Amino acid sequence: MSETVFVHPAREAHIGPDSAVRRLLPQRHLRRIGAWCFFDHFGPVPPGAGGVSVGPHPHVGLQTATWLFEGDLVHLDSIGSRQRIRPGQLNLMTAGRGIAHSEDLAHAPRGVHGVQFWIALPDRARFVEPTFAHHPDLPLVQYAGIEALIVIGSTLDVTSPAHTYTPLLMAELRLPAGHDGPWPLRPDFEHALAVVEGAASIDGTPAAPGALIEVARGRPEVRLSCGSATKIVLIGGAPFDEALVLAWNWVVRTAQEAERARSMWARGEGYGDLSVFGDRQRISSPPLAPGLVAR
Ligand code: MN
Repeated sequence: MSETVFVHPAREAHIGPDSAVRRLLPQRHLRRIGAWCFFDHFGPVPPGAGGVSVGPHPHVGLQTATWLFEGDLVHLDSIGSRQRIRPGQLNLMTAGRGIAHSEDLAHAPRGVHGVQFWIALPDRARFVEPTFAHHPDLPLVQYAGIEALIVIGSTLDVTSPAHTYTPLLMAELRLPAGHDGPWPLRPDFEHALAVVEGAASIDGTPAAPGALIEVARGRPEVRLSCGSATKIVLIGGAPFDEALVLAWNWVVRTAQEAERARSMWARGEGYGDLSVFGDRQRISSPPLAPGLVAR
């Protein structure tokens, strides 16, 4: 029987001095799933252990999607948004031509657990005006014993209100203890799953936090089973066939564009009103890697 899923172990990355995360995308052998081009799973960070605060930093050419399982964060950005986010709510920031933001624990001593994604904007939308949306109410569906929050996109005749620029799906699947059953997929989408709590078997392959499970193309469903209650994040999307340069916090098309984004950030220009961050120090860009190639 041919394989229906492929396991991609996460690598450890650091988003701050105290903030180790599991980086699930991009990977050497899996650059993206649809337009999902970056996927970090952080925590659960125990109370008082530093958390995941990130100071002011810039983005262009992407949307960020932030989704929590525990704790709460405060989002602040250079177009004037200030938004607290709790579990079950989506923060979706469209950087477009340029924005800067910071993320901080709302209650410093408390723990936090969540995921953050970048979604590449297609060429026709990558210079849109920056926007920010908070979605506190997302549709919940039940299917074959699984309870699912549809965070982005549509599935099972339910549609999230979140706006994306290419066809995408993101759902939080909650499997009860002892679950065994199918979950429907769109054969025209690419899909991947990450267990964030518990442990599961995905088409017979063991899966636990710290790995991204890619589903082979064209599959109409995937079989999910677990012992104890388990939480899984499912992402999917139409194949995104524009070549990208991911350079630091920018999703662009050429090394020249990355260099321009870098020099604008160094000058504090083109990323909105940076005075919203007060005297908090902005994170400065590392030097760009030589030989950046779009892929
Ligand atoms: Mn960011």
